[in-house]
Amino acid sequence: MAKLLIRRDEMILLKNSEAGKNFDLYGNLFAALQTYDVLSEDEFNKSQTLDDKARAVILNNKKILFDEIKNEWSGIGCNDEATGEIRCQLCRTKNKLVFYIHNKLNDNELNVGSECIKKFPGIENVAKIRRTHNEQQKYQAESKRRIEFDEIDLTDINYIKESEEWFKNFKILLPYKLFHDIETLLYNLNSLKTTYIKSGGEITYVKKQYFELKTLLKKCKKEAENIYQRNKGQLLVCRKGLADWLNSNHNDIWEAVMKNGGLLNTETLKYCYETEFVQSHLKRFNARISDGDISIIGMNGPSIRFMIKNSDYIYPLYFGMNCKVFMQNIGCYCLTNKNYHFGKKDLVNISVEQTNSNFDAMCNRIMSPLEKIGLQIERSEYTGEKYYVRLPQTTRASKWSNRVETTELGYKKIAESAIFTKFNALVFASDEEIEAAFARILSQLNRTTKWLTKVEKEKMEEISKSLTIQQQREFVPYA
Ligand SMILES: [Zn+2]
Repeated sequence: MAKLLIRRDEMILLKNSEAGKNFDLYGNLFAALQTYDVLSEDEFNKSQTLDDKARAVILNNKKILFDEIKNEWSGIGCNDEATGEIRCQLCRTKNKLVFYIHNKLNDNELNVGSECIKKFPGIENVAKIRRTHNEQQKYQAESKRRIEFDEIDLTDINYIKESEEWFKNFKILLPYKLFHDIETLLYNLNSLKTTYIKSGGEITYVKKQYFELKTLLKKCKKEAENIYQRNKGQLLVCRKGLADWLNSNHNDIWEAVMKNGGLLNTETLKYCYETEFVQSHLKRFNARISDGDISIIGMNGPSIRFMIKNSDYIYPLYFGMNCKVFMQNIGCYCLTNKNYHFGKKDLVNISVEQTNSNFDAMCNRIMSPLEKIGLQIERSEYTGEKYYVRLPQTTRASKWSNRVETTELGYKKIAESAIFTKFNALVFASDEEIEAAFARILSQLNRTTKWLTKVEKEKMEEISKSLTIQQQREFVPYA
């Protein structure tokens, strides 16, 4: 077959475009080619009409011409493949996919099949149309398969989703193997579905696999419900709230509980300091206290609140113990050992709540041991400021003389947090221990600070009182 210098598709595009008409550039090419469908080498040689410019273009500069032609066109859309096949105007064959292109200079339009369009790459907008088309095709294919998958189990169409919800909200933590079996089955069911939707496959095989997995999952779900019925009243069952908390805070413990059949034990309970969990067992903990003068009265944030009331604490003192420390040292035994009891000696890292009533209760408690060493602690009624008070002391001037000297009443302001820190360590201390602790403080104060006189202290109080009032005024602008 003779070599074609201009193919049919090129010829049709050329004839529908404007560029070829440029006589200056391409000579009489456009007019001379009007009678041809294609141009073979033979015809080219025999042609009487083609001028030299036209010949030079055809032989050696076709690219310049077609680049210019290409720029006249722009893609304006493509057909919906479902509507059937459409003839390509460049090659006249039927195509499932045709692009509609429009000539910006003369408004001509052409249908170009998906193969022919590749011969003229770079026509404006075509790539974008192709992309959108491909995405639509993909989406349609996926939708079709999604529906096909749903047809598998019409009477139980949301089985996977409902099973996931059921598992996510299961009331207790399950034993390790069962938990992972369910997790794996759900994963496999989901992946069966998504893989089929995304990539397709043999639907009968997918169906078979689906029902196999469903049967296994149903068996596991039944087992899980049986375990729940058996364990729901158990003290050591790990309920969902705690399980979720462990999963995100102590993943290793969460696993350990599952490996223990889903039940808590002394070791894992040490890490179960979730506030709600601790709170739910407060009554149980309280029942295990061996000392009659302390009791659990509730929670305060992450701490358990205790109260002590006895002959030392005529006014009750409220203090807290962090749940974490409590569960580590006490709580874990309360729930696992029927004979376990705890008392003051077991309470560690306690902290007295920083309130005025606690301050007063504590001062009342330590008053008599402190008096023995000539010290007092007091709280100003107006400003709430706290002071060490050195009581007047009578001492002999020297060991060779009977003359006595009396020291004046002295005051020393204390930071609230500092004094409460001291209290924390002394809540259950004996008189002797309290005396010794404050004797050390007193001798340190005598060495390092100047005591204020009563007049100086009152003057200072006056100042901070007026400051307080002023501040209050500032904060109540429209009262
Ligand atoms: Zn074609």
